[in-house]
Amino acid sequence: MTDQARLVFNRVGNRPVFTAAQMQERNRAAQAYISKQFVRYGLTSVHHEGGDLFALQEVRARGELLHRVSYEAQDGVLEAMLKAGIATGFGDEWIRFGATSEHTCDGSFSERTMAMSVPYPGVEPPYRGNLIFTQEDLNGWVERMHRAGIQVNCHANGDVAIDMVLTAYERAQKLFPRFDPRPKITHCTLISDDLLRRIKAVGAVPAPFTSYGYYNTDKFHFYGEELMQRCMAYRSFADAGITAAAGSDFSPGPFSPLMGIQGMVTRTGWNGETWGGKQRITVDEALRVNTINGAYATHEEGIKGSITAGKLADFVVLADDPHSVDPNKIKDIAIIETVTGGNTVYKA
Ligand SMILES: [Zn+2]
Repeated sequence: MTDQARLVFNRVGNRPVFTAAQMQERNRAAQAYISKQFVRYGLTSVHHEGGDLFALQEVRARGELLHRVSYEAQDGVLEAMLKAGIATGFGDEWIRFGATSEHTCDGSFSERTMAMSVPYPGVEPPYRGNLIFTQEDLNGWVERMHRAGIQVNCHANGDVAIDMVLTAYERAQKLFPRFDPRPKITHCTLISDDLLRRIKAVGAVPAPFTSYGYYNTDKFHFYGEELMQRCMAYRSFADAGITAAAGSDFSPGPFSPLMGIQGMVTRTGWNGETWGGKQRITVDEALRVNTINGAYATHEEGIKGSITAGKLADFVVLADDPHSVDPNKIKDIAIIETVTGGNTVYKA
C-alpha cells in the first residue's frame, strides 16, 4: 500500500469501536508511552507530526511529558490556528506550535513513488513517480500559511517535487517578505547542485531521513549508486552551508538518534551494503544535525541544541564516546541517562 492507496483500506473490515472517553484515555496513554520511549532512546525534543493536542496537554499536566514537543499542526488544528491568529512559536518550551505538518507533495522514497526528473531504473514502461498537487495549488497553500506567520513544511522526496516546493517558497517570500522564515522541506531526498543553491538562497531547512541509512539499505538498489549519491545528502548540505535537521520519519523509520548517526557516518546498512558513500558526514557533524540543527529548525537554537550556560538543561549521558567507538557500533551505545529541564527522565 502506498500513498493515498492507504485510504481505501481504512474504509474496509471490522475495527474495535471506542467511546469518546475511551479514545481520550487511549490517546493519553499512547502519548505518555511514546514519551517514555523517546527519552529511553535519548531524545529530549521531537517535532511531532499532528497528534491529539489536548491529550498532549493532559499528559503534561500529569507530569508524564518527558520530552519537549514542537507541534506540527494539520487539518482542523491548522485551520483553527489560521482562524485564531496563532502563528508558529506560540506556546512554551514544552509544547510549542512549530511548522505545519508535512504537506505531502509527492510519493515516498522507500515505496518508490517519489517524483523524479529521470525514470526509475529498470521499470517499464518508464515511470517517474507521483505528484500530489499542481504548482498553482501548492503556491496557494504555501502563500496562505506564509502570510499567517506559520512556518511552512512540505514533504518532498524527488527532485521534481523539491523544485516545486522551492518555487512556491521563493514566490511566497517575494510576494510577502518575512524575516528568517526557515521553511522546512521534510525528506528533501534527491537533490542536485541547482536545488542546493536554491535551498541555500531561500533559507530552507531540509530534514532528510536519518535512520534509513542503516535501516532501509535493502531498498537502495532500486535507485542504484548514481542516484543514491544524491540522496539523503547530508555531506552536500553541510558543504553548501545549509542547516539540515534530522528526520527519522517515525514510524516508517526508527527514531533512535544513535542509529541515525551511524547511518549518516557510515552509509552502511544492517545488510552490510554501502550506498552513496560520498554523502558520509563526520560524527561531529552528525551530532550537530541531531542537536543544534533540530533546534534551528524550530527557531529555538537560542534555548536548546547545545550544552551552554543559560540554555535549557536537556542532555543525554552515553556509555561510550561516539567519536571513538567502531562507527558500525554507534547505534549500540547504551543510553545511561536522559535529562530534560535539569530533571532525570530516564536512567538505565
Ligand atoms: Zn513524509
